[in-house]
Amino acid sequence: MLLRAPHWKASIMSEYVSGRHFLQTPGPTNLPERVLRAMNGNAINHRGPEFGALGLRVIGKLRQVFQTVGIVGIFPSSGTGAWESSLVNTLSPGDRVLITRTGQFAHLWEQMATKLGMDVIALDTDWRRGADPAAIAALLADDREHRIKAVCVVHSETSTSCMSSVPAVRAAMDKAGHPAMLMVDAISSLACADYRHDEWKVDVTIAGSQKGLMTPPGLSFVAVSEKALAKAATATARSYWDWAPLVVSNKTGFFPYTPSINLLYGLEAALDMLLEEGLTNVYARHERYAEATRRTVRAWGLELQCADPTAYNPGVTAIRVPDGHNADNLRNTILAKYNMSLGNGLGPIEGKVFRIGHMGDLSPLQLMGTLSGVEMGLRLAGIPHKSGGVQAAIEYLSGNAG
Ligand SMILES: *Cc1c(COP(=O)(O)O)cnc(C)c1O
Repeated sequence: MLLRAPHWKASIMSEYVSGRHFLQTPGPTNLPERVLRAMNGNAINHRGPEFGALGLRVIGKLRQVFQTVGIVGIFPSSGTGAWESSLVNTLSPGDRVLITRTGQFAHLWEQMATKLGMDVIALDTDWRRGADPAAIAALLADDREHRIKAVCVVHSETSTSCMSSVPAVRAAMDKAGHPAMLMVDAISSLACADYRHDEWKVDVTIAGSQKGLMTPPGLSFVAVSEKALAKAATATARSYWDWAPLVVSNKTGFFPYTPSINLLYGLEAALDMLLEEGLTNVYARHERYAEATRRTVRAWGLELQCADPTAYNPGVTAIRVPDGHNADNLRNTILAKYNMSLGNGLGPIEGKVFRIGHMGDLSPLQLMGTLSGVEMGLRLAGIPHKSGGVQAAIEYLSGNAG
């Protein structure tokens, strides 16, 4: 058998490692026991009353996390499916869309729009900061005929660990007096960072189950404004992704096809956990872990991929390895020796960065274990760094009621 993926090789060929695997990728994230237990039940009739009640409860709780009173749709797909639903419901082939290419995920979204026949204008960045609202404002101001139909922004660019400011992009659009829709990929920011679909006047927000929402991969979500819904009524080239049945689902709790019933059990448990903790506490916890991680990285003398402190990410930290060293060697060493998975560098930064996911269900001690594992890995892989990184996190977390 040909084993190509390094994680298979490591788990099969390395010596036995006791204890739990550390899943510190920025999605999928660790599943809380409560979510696992909630999924451990029989399927139910998805046309029966019990399911309708479940659907309505889940949609109601999702609305609180999206901070919307509007329509929220659930698709049995990964996040990529919700990207497609957002494009095909609100746009038609030939429509112009503006995307800021902040990293690999923005790039993939852009490629999808191109494949769907849209006319994409991309604004480039150096992958070390968020979208530039001034550049967006300038392009929109020049577009006097209003040919740009949508502005697409990735809130948390998981590949670079840089955030874009959605309110700043909204303000730029309003300043230009431009009627384009605002679409936001919040797949790795929802339930990690403050997010306000209604207040920020976002037309379509896209999310997925397997990151801040602490649920297995396989569900995607859209929150949709009235304006976007009105557009969807006129789009023609779509079927499975059609939003028309969402309006019905939001009233009845039923789906037009067989929903992912057991994932919805898990999602409801995860949403209950988030709402019981309180969203502001959830965001603060993520901020605290992110700050502890950045202090550790600085103490190691390593460089953060995100070069703009105002764009730091609460859920994931991408770290550059010094020139001449390979981040994937480091990750493979850490996996083989310490049984921990970290995120890899994507696209042009492959091998140059590794990413620590600190989103979702995580205790301060899990974070300390994660940072210790990275520090031990840096030693083992011979990556030049200073000691004292983990110590910096201990000081920060113990002084800040971690
Ligand atoms: C993970 C992720 C995606 C892709 O989601 P899938 O569930 O893998 O389809 C898209 N955008 C961002 C920002 C992500 O983090």
